[in-house]
Amino acid sequence: MTSSLPTLAVSKRAAARIREGHRWVYRSDLAKTVEPPTAALVLVTDERGKPLGSALSSSSSQIALRMVSPSLLAGDEELLALLRSRIRQAFEYRKLTVFSDTANGYRLIFSEADGLPGVIADRYNDVIALQFLTQAADRADIRQMVIEELQAVAASFESARSLTMVERVDLRIRQLENLPAAENKIVAGEKPATIYSLNRLKFHYDALTGQKTGAFLDQRENYAATETYARGHALDVFCYEGGFALHLARRCETVTGVDSSRPALEAAEKNARLNKKQFLSPEIEWIEANAFDLLKDYAATKKLYDTIVLDPPAFAKTKRNLDTAMRGYKELNLRALKMLRPGGILITCSCSFHVSEADFSEMLISAAADAHRQLTMVEKRSQAKDHPILLGMPETAHLKFFILRVGQ
Ligand code: SAH
Repeated sequence: MTSSLPTLAVSKRAAARIREGHRWVYRSDLAKTVEPPTAALVLVTDERGKPLGSALSSSSSQIALRMVSPSLLAGDEELLALLRSRIRQAFEYRKLTVFSDTANGYRLIFSEADGLPGVIADRYNDVIALQFLTQAADRADIRQMVIEELQAVAASFESARSLTMVERVDLRIRQLENLPAAENKIVAGEKPATIYSLNRLKFHYDALTGQKTGAFLDQRENYAATETYARGHALDVFCYEGGFALHLARRCETVTGVDSSRPALEAAEKNARLNKKQFLSPEIEWIEANAFDLLKDYAATKKLYDTIVLDPPAFAKTKRNLDTAMRGYKELNLRALKMLRPGGILITCSCSFHVSEADFSEMLISAAADAHRQLTMVEKRSQAKDHPILLGMPETAHLKFFILRVGQ
């Protein structure tokens, strides 16, 4: 190769993964003597020097290289043009998969899955929340291009005139990437708070003061599916700002939401007030509690429900704590199963990447056996389509979502 770009050879294992469509090369897949450069465009080859494509490098992350193209790019100019075109493609894909008449809250850019490693952009009506999560994505030229191109894309939004973009910072990730600390800030426009809609329900969003996570846009299609089957008396455990509870309230006689975070419950109540007219249940009851304790108390007092949603935070943050995580999932699901009336609906999920669908399924079989309940799989689902999944890259698929019916 005659290029002036740094060229890095990767192990056989990494080369095979890349050929199957994976986009990461771990540091351990580079020769020990090789130091990946900081935030640079590099060319990648296999051990014999056969080209595999182009990547962006990080000098400090365990993920040393993130592939951006199977071709050999000539330099940064070509890189920027390519990434720019990926933003357009990402938007075209959302036009195909998100029905804009019922949702103006969705993920516009999902990092590797959209060919833009380290870049996340979530649209909440006229606010776009941006994240630059790698050394390369944080480069001034790349940030600038992303902001400009998103402004161009957003010109077609019905709310384009009030568009605001906010950069949200993840300090832990900046540390891992050896980037200086930074603060959330407005990068375009001036109004970081808005109201957006999903499935014809309205939600508040404030990109500067809201909780770290923003909303769980990956559940948008699952909210709608949940609403299809929900009925009777419903319990939403780990309700956060009311994503499931508000959908349940359109179909159920009573709805109770449980979360340990008071600010989340206050936001949930504010969201409920925005949508009251659509609700069948007169009030949603919000309870601040530890879900494990509350379910234990409720099971002891033989409380019964027709619909229960369990959407806990990711219990398995690493592979190492998988066993503990699985015990947590089992305890929750077992208690919920005991509290469902015959014919009741259990909506249960795991957003831990490290918990496979098979692990999750096994855990449920064992919980059902302990609870002496027969379960029918009504729907097996995953994340909403605006969080695309790359077939060759399992890390892009994180959500397991089951809708189950308890036998009569
Ligand atoms: N279902 C929500 C997302 C849930 S996120 C939605 O669709 O929007 C997980 C939530 O669990 C967070 O709001 C967090 O505050 C809450 N949480 C974490 N640990 C908890 C515990 N032990 N008991 C109750 N809530 C908990």
